[in-house]
Amino acid sequence: MLMCYDPARRLSQMRVRAEAMLVGVRMLFELIDMKTTLNENADGPALQPGPSHIRLEDVTFAYGERKVLENVEMDIPAGKMTAIVGLSGAGKSTVMNLIMRLYDPTEGRVTIDGQDISRVQSTSLRHAMAYVGQDTFLFSTSIMENIRYARPDASDDDVKAAASAAFAHDFISALPQGYQTPVGENGAFLSGGQRQRISIARAFLKDASILLLDEATSALDAISEEKIREAVQVLGRGRTRVAITHRLSTIMAADVVYVMEDGHVIETGSVDALLQANGPFRDLYDKQFG
Ligand code: ATP
Repeated sequence: MLMCYDPARRLSQMRVRAEAMLVGVRMLFELIDMKTTLNENADGPALQPGPSHIRLEDVTFAYGERKVLENVEMDIPAGKMTAIVGLSGAGKSTVMNLIMRLYDPTEGRVTIDGQDISRVQSTSLRHAMAYVGQDTFLFSTSIMENIRYARPDASDDDVKAAASAAFAHDFISALPQGYQTPVGENGAFLSGGQRQRISIARAFLKDASILLLDEATSALDAISEEKIREAVQVLGRGRTRVAITHRLSTIMAADVVYVMEDGHVIETGSVDALLQANGPFRDLYDKQFG
């Protein structure tokens, strides 16, 4: 299903399991150029850089026969934080997948600054976005090389600066071989919080105008969570952020919240407005945070 550009050639040796393929694509999104089976538009126009205002325009999407999004409208403002919340299975990750163009909508379109993302060169789209997920895909190589995958021409100093910004430099420096420490098979030698900080370091290195965060199921200890929250806050400044989240701190930091249920957007607005509206967001909020 996937073909890779250089330097992703190495990926073919990584024995990515077939069933993990989509997860693999998502995680690799921030790292290297990959092709899906979608038309890559290699000869099409490149995405023109702009403020990065994302819109989902009347988007319907089905996985095969199974419709999971219906007539979804989202207006994701440039340079702000947008949170997508809702119960499991509501369609949050699917929205993220469509923004990353891992799939094309069955109906409707996704635009960035008015440009239909299904028509622009996929490489330019991927360069415009960084993804920080709950799991971080790591290669069985050093920490230095793992971070550098985000921008292969980055110098060692660039990598270290990105790691510092991600609050990763101290733990990396404390390891026996520092940045040259091998991470083990898919990062087995690192904790979940450390892996996530490597993912954030990659996003700093990539310096993309759109930041996609998936905090949905990450289970981190309080100290890691706090460090990651701080790093993401700095990383996000001035960028267009879209977060799938259950975390109160992220929700409270959002400028706009979309509440999803069963493939539909059922409510949207600022946190204050939604709390005052006493609707589905208020219910969700009271259930989750008392
Ligand atoms: P969660 O919070 O549990 O991650 P979610 O809100 O992100 O849920 P999605 O992952 O977008 O929801 O899933 C929406 C619906 O689409 C669910 O019913 C799910 O079972 C289905 N779905 C998700 N991925 C696929 C897939 N690759 N093939 C078929 N159905 C899928």
